[in-house]
Amino acid sequence: MQIAPLESWLSGLQGPLIIAGPCSAETEEQVAATAAALRKMAGVRIFRAGLWKSRTRPDTFAGVGKAGLDWMRSVRTETGLLSAVEVSNAAQAEDCLRAGVDVLWVGARTTVNPFYVQEVADAVRGTGVAMMVKNPVSPDLDLWIGAVERLEKAGIRKMLAVHRGFSRYEKGIYRNAPYWEIAAEFKRLLPGMPMVCDPSHIAGKREYLQQIAQKALDMDMAGIMIETHLSPDRALSDSAQQITPKDLESLLARLVVRPPASAPARLGGRSEPLPLRLDEIDEALLALLVRRVEAVRQIEAFDGTELARSWRERGKALGLDEKFLDAIFRAIQSSERLS
Ligand code: PEP
Ligand code: MN
Repeated sequence: MQIAPLESWLSGLQGPLIIAGPCSAETEEQVAATAAALRKMAGVRIFRAGLWKSRTRPDTFAGVGKAGLDWMRSVRTETGLLSAVEVSNAAQAEDCLRAGVDVLWVGARTTVNPFYVQEVADAVRGTGVAMMVKNPVSPDLDLWIGAVERLEKAGIRKMLAVHRGFSRYEKGIYRNAPYWEIAAEFKRLLPGMPMVCDPSHIAGKREYLQQIAQKALDMDMAGIMIETHLSPDRALSDSAQQITPKDLESLLARLVVRPPASAPARLGGRSEPLPLRLDEIDEALLALLVRRVEAVRQIEAFDGTELARSWRERGKALGLDEKFLDAIFRAIQSSERLS
């Protein structure tokens, strides 16, 4: 696969690439003031803003649409930052191309649908515009790679994969499950493709951004995309996960950027270090615990005797120690009483 190295279209890039800007463009003033605040921050080269918002539910803010294209053009001329806009169909892609948007991106709800990806690929065919491809909402590596292949067949070479986490039915700490191993596998299969992480959509809450961003850098990702809003609490979309430009600045200052060779959990490395895997397994365990507690809550008079017996038998058949099994079961029972 022929993918241009990041440095070939982001000249002079030193350290991680930072992509920042609001979830949604809301007003001309907001776009201009956010871009002005981001402009001076080290590493910030791309200003992102959604104009057409592919919202999960109706009757929520759907974006300002075409009206924002002029605002994005001004960002480019006023700040020198590259502008980036999400496109979900041919019409949006054509509008962005006409308006000179520098980077187009395919969002998680679009990557999931090959018809839409193909439509966007046909619209950008031969233009050579830079594209970002977010992972699909579902944990499906082939859909993600397939989207990249469709764009590559349309002659797109400046490409960037964006890891934004995956939907799952179980509740978790994060809004979207990171499934870091999927990102690592993508990187192993497409080694020339640069990848950034989008901690905002993984986290769903601003308090988790730092740890996710750090983990992404520890995995040798090329950078991060963080949603930035002047008044996050008043944002018209993704309010809980956005941070002010000032908070972005302190987040970036706290990031430890290690030289690539010393990164503890290199993407695509043969042996993924234990803490990384354990962290994901713990996340899955916690999600299961929440499901179990909720299921028990729905049963009025709960007698765990029979369940305890069957738990012990099944656990033993899987090779687990009986005392360990009993201790875990007791702990689950008492947590259910407490909660
Ligand atoms: C976004 O970047 O604002 C967005 C809608 O993201 P995603 O496609 O990852 O959900
Ligand atoms: Mn968003």
